[in-house]
Amino acid sequence: MILSQSLLLKMLIIKDIVNLQAYLKTYKLNNEKIGFVPTMGGLHEGHGNLIKSSQENNDKTIVSIFLNPKQFNNIEDLKRYPVNKGDDYDYCLKNKIDIIFEPNEYEIYPLNYKLIKNNFFQNILCDKFRPGHFDGVVSVVSELFKIIEPSNAYFGYKDYQQFKIIDQLAKKKFSKIIIKGVETVRDETGLAFSTRNNLLNSNSKEIYSKFIFNMKNFINSLDSGLEISTANNLVRDFIKDTNTGIGKFDYHEFRSDSDLSLKGTINDSRFFLAFYLNSTRLIDNFKID
Ligand code: AMP
Repeated sequence: MILSQSLLLKMLIIKDIVNLQAYLKTYKLNNEKIGFVPTMGGLHEGHGNLIKSSQENNDKTIVSIFLNPKQFNNIEDLKRYPVNKGDDYDYCLKNKIDIIFEPNEYEIYPLNYKLIKNNFFQNILCDKFRPGHFDGVVSVVSELFKIIEPSNAYFGYKDYQQFKIIDQLAKKKFSKIIIKGVETVRDETGLAFSTRNNLLNSNSKEIYSKFIFNMKNFINSLDSGLEISTANNLVRDFIKDTNTGIGKFDYHEFRSDSDLSLKGTINDSRFFLAFYLNSTRLIDNFKID
C-alpha cells in the first residue's frame, strides 16, 4: 500500500511511555478529550466499532497494540495468536487514529513486576476455565490506564465478563476514566469478528456459523419470562440432543446482564458460551431478541 504523505503525517506510532506522555500532555493542555481503545492487534471490524465510538465522543483516539503475554494461561495459545502488524498500521491509518501505542513487554512490565489480582466476577465463566487470565487483563489495563489517563476507554461486549471486570476496576481505582461498552460486530453469517477466527479453516467456520444460527434460533424460541436456571436446563438438553459439530464446550449458560449471577429471568440476561473448534477457543454472548 502506498501511503499519502498527508495521511502519514497524521498518525503517530509510539513505542515508549516518555514519548507518548509528551504528546498526551499537549492534548491535555489543549483540553482535548482522549479516547482509548486497548487491543492485542490483529485488528478487524469489531475493533473498528470501538474506534468509531471513541472518535464520536473524543478529540483524540489512541489505540494500543500489545499482545499481553500475562493474560495467556497457556503458552501454546500465545504462540499461535495471529499477529499482523503491517495490516494493523494500515487499518489504523485508514481509520484516522491519532496515536498507536505499541510498547514492548518491558515497557509495560518492568523487571520483578508484581501482577495485580482481579477481585471481580471470580470463579465463573472464563475466570473458571482460564485461571489467572483476568489477573493478566487487569494488570495490563491498569498499567495502560496509569500511562494514558484517558477520558473514556472502550471495551467490547464480545468479552462481556472482561468489560464488567474493567468497569468495576475503573469505579474502584480509576474513577476519572469512564468505561464504555460497545456492541459486538458480526459478519454476514452471524459470526462475531475475532482475531482468532484467522485460525479457523473454511470447514470450521461453516460449522461455527451453523451452530450459532441454530443456537440463536433456539434461544429466541424461549419465553423471555423463563427463570435463568430453567432456561439453562433447556439449553443443556438442546446441546446434548443436537449434533452441534463443536468438539468441547467450557460453558454455555444464561447469566444476569447486570451482575452475571444465575438469578432472575432470561429477559434481563445474556447467553454466554465458550467452546473449542479444533484447538481454537472461541467465546461469544448474546441477548435474546
Ligand atoms: P482483543 O484485541 O481481542 O483483546 O480485543 C480488543 C477489544 O476489542 C476488546 O475490548 C474486545 O472486546 C473488542 N472486540 C473484539 N472483537 C469484537 C467484536 N467482534 N465486536 C466488538 N468488539 C470486539
